[in-house]
Amino acid sequence: ASDPKLSSIDASQLEITKTTTPRDLLPNDQLVFGRTFTDHMLSLEWTASEGWLKPRITPYQNLSLDPATCVFHYAFEAFEGMKAYKDKDGNVRLFRPDMNMARLNRSTARIALPTFDSEAMIDLIKKFVDMERRFIPSQRGYSLYVRPNMIGTQKTLGVGPPGSALFYTIACPVGPYYPTGFKAVSLEATTYAVRAWPGGVGNSKLGANYAPCIVPQMQAATRGFHQNLWLFEEGGEEYVTEVGTMNLFAAIRNKDGQKELLTAPLDGTILAGVTRDSILALARERLVPEGWKITERRYTMKELDEAAQEGRMLEVFGSGTAAVVSPVRKIGWRGKMLDCGLPDNKEAGPIATRMLDWMMAIQYGDEPHPWSVKV
Ligand code: PMP
Repeated sequence: ASDPKLSSIDASQLEITKTTTPRDLLPNDQLVFGRTFTDHMLSLEWTASEGWLKPRITPYQNLSLDPATCVFHYAFEAFEGMKAYKDKDGNVRLFRPDMNMARLNRSTARIALPTFDSEAMIDLIKKFVDMERRFIPSQRGYSLYVRPNMIGTQKTLGVGPPGSALFYTIACPVGPYYPTGFKAVSLEATTYAVRAWPGGVGNSKLGANYAPCIVPQMQAATRGFHQNLWLFEEGGEEYVTEVGTMNLFAAIRNKDGQKELLTAPLDGTILAGVTRDSILALARERLVPEGWKITERRYTMKELDEAAQEGRMLEVFGSGTAAVVSPVRKIGWRGKMLDCGLPDNKEAGPIATRMLDWMMAIQYGDEPHPWSVKV
């Protein structure tokens, strides 16, 4: 939808139908990610002739779609994951929603689904999240996981651009990722399956990128690993890309003796994580003055292995909305086990620990910051 008329949204037309059967709130300790949802959902339909129609907030309900609907056959689906936090004054705050909406627009455009006016969509999501504020526990670590989603709804088996689409957003209250403090994970560097490749769609948040990763994850689990570390092999080198549903950071002491925080570049083979971008920005602002070098570049398993063997591996951690940071203890690779530098009695290194503190201070509004947006 390059025609701007087809992307525009009139948020002022929002029609709200409140539920007559509000749900009971679960006790905080029973919140399981993605299991229980709030009372309402936000929906907007789109047609190729009219663009985005009147936005609606309705009671949470089933969708009714013809079995021939294109999403079921050709995976016309893109999604986002973001969180709303309650601050100490009871304000509800989103974290960098502009980044999520920009990414969703890139994802949908890649699969011939419509794009949309991000600002108007953020307004609508703010209204929706505000309506659901009673579901957000005020304790630190709790939040509302918000799941915007877009699907192609045209009823056709013809393979072509969907003539109609549905955007909807649902939300579920979630507890802290680490209820009892960090728990370092182990990764299996995966070579027999490839998640993404140059020219592919690994940088788009499409449902179609996730289903194929489950079997490799189950296989890694049989060998005792929590997640796959996705590699991309080229010219005899194995480049480190990202983890399960996280980007990856490695802190090493490089050959010049300088401390370096490394992450893969946005070359199309990784998702452009909002957390990744935020960590890079915070690291450039706060770690560079301490002598750190911050780099986005391609790096290989060989390089990590060498660092591990030479005692230059400082720490490794994943980054994503769910956990913010997820420390890594070891990486299984070609029959070897790389030690990521965490002492046996520690579950997180100092950089991961400080990053989590810095990010949470912004997300929960303790530190005023333009990234944290009140609804
Ligand atoms: N990579 C993948 C494949 C993911 O699914 C996610 C989660 N959205 C991330 C990285 C991390 O992205 P973000 O920091 O935006 O949550």
